[in-house]
Amino acid sequence: MQPIQSVKGMNDILPEEIALWRFAEEKAREIFQRFGYSEIRTPIVEKTELFTRGIGEATDIVEKEMYTFQDKKGRSLTLRPEATASIIRAYIQHQMHVKSHQKKFYLIGPMFRHERPQKGRYRQFHQINVEVFGIDEPMLDAEVMFLACLFLREIGLKEVSLEINSLGCPNCRISFREILQEYLLQYQESLCPDCNRRVYKNPLRCFDCKAPQCKEILSNAPLILDFICDSCNRHFQEVQNFLRELNVEFIINGRMVRGLDYYVKTAFEIVTEHLGAQNAVGGGGRYDGLMKDLGGPDLPGIGFALGMERIILLLKDSAKLQQDNNQMIYCVLLGDRARAEGFKLAQKLRSEGFIVDLSYEDRSAKSQMRTANKMGARMAIIIGDDELSQGVVQLRDMHRSSQWVVEIEELVPELRSILNES
Ligand code: AMP
Repeated sequence: MQPIQSVKGMNDILPEEIALWRFAEEKAREIFQRFGYSEIRTPIVEKTELFTRGIGEATDIVEKEMYTFQDKKGRSLTLRPEATASIIRAYIQHQMHVKSHQKKFYLIGPMFRHERPQKGRYRQFHQINVEVFGIDEPMLDAEVMFLACLFLREIGLKEVSLEINSLGCPNCRISFREILQEYLLQYQESLCPDCNRRVYKNPLRCFDCKAPQCKEILSNAPLILDFICDSCNRHFQEVQNFLRELNVEFIINGRMVRGLDYYVKTAFEIVTEHLGAQNAVGGGGRYDGLMKDLGGPDLPGIGFALGMERIILLLKDSAKLQQDNNQMIYCVLLGDRARAEGFKLAQKLRSEGFIVDLSYEDRSAKSQMRTANKMGARMAIIIGDDELSQGVVQLRDMHRSSQWVVEIEELVPELRSILNES
């Protein structure tokens, strides 16, 4: 019989990678908490209309990439393709704007998009999301970008750059839309079929097109940054001033529009040259009208999402990564009494906080030592019937290949001192 494979574009995260995932997730939690953020977890499945209303009908995500299905009652549900709309839904639903003072949230979890899988692009992927509601000060925009950069720096990713743009407010957008449309319509015959649709539905989206002929046309297109109103321009200048005060380096990229419709004013992306075609590690921006569009209070919002898989790919490549020292102790048990006593000893050591594994099967000393080695154990405790009757065990330092006898009574302090040193 053919073994069953995982769904295309949906990956297992195997134990050897978990240390990296946890390292990044724990660092994110620690840093976000330092900045006053609280964790929130929302369901993976939402009503489809949350995303069609939230993300925008004429976006790639909503048009092509959502995992949408009907449940047994015929309701249209969708596996979340992003987290912002869900977090806003939860915020409104639980009336957090009146019942709590919480404004800053983070969420770590899986997202689903039906894209063509390739390195760094998957159908189930994981994001670290940050969202702040109710504050439209440029100071916050700068701090949010600083936070994303700080996190990446603290986990050891230095070769990333921050690109920023201003997409203006809905008013700037209306007049720019016409200007851009007029420009693009001159080249209508050369634009790809997708952009031919976008020109009418949502011309800004053409900036995201990867087709070479469209890229060429867009390289000379007017940029929204040159058409934003005075108030948006002031906001953008202040954001830049605060970034400078925080010593955050950035590049202004007038062609970066982000793939979702809800962004206004500040938009940003963090990119790297080390990921090939999928060069964005993360991105975000301001979405001041979204909460109101989703039926909530008219509160501004800003946030970002970082892609975990891309972070892990970069971390794996980064020679600077410090792996945690292995702290595992492996019990090698030789003889019937040793197996019974060793089993109890293993539980005792675990209750003391040590990481302990043992050979459950009755195997030769050589074969048990081989397992200890393969598992990368730091220490082995070799317990034989003869030693037990003298109240001692053999302790082997697997890194230094040295072995000595220790009284069972002394085992815990001895192990603690060795493992604390390493
Ligand atoms: P977005 O929500 O599209 O702004 O994406 C934010 C970040 O999530 C991107 O910069 C990527 O790092 C990550 N990301 C988005 N889509 C995918 C995907 N299909 N596979 C892996 N990572 C993704």
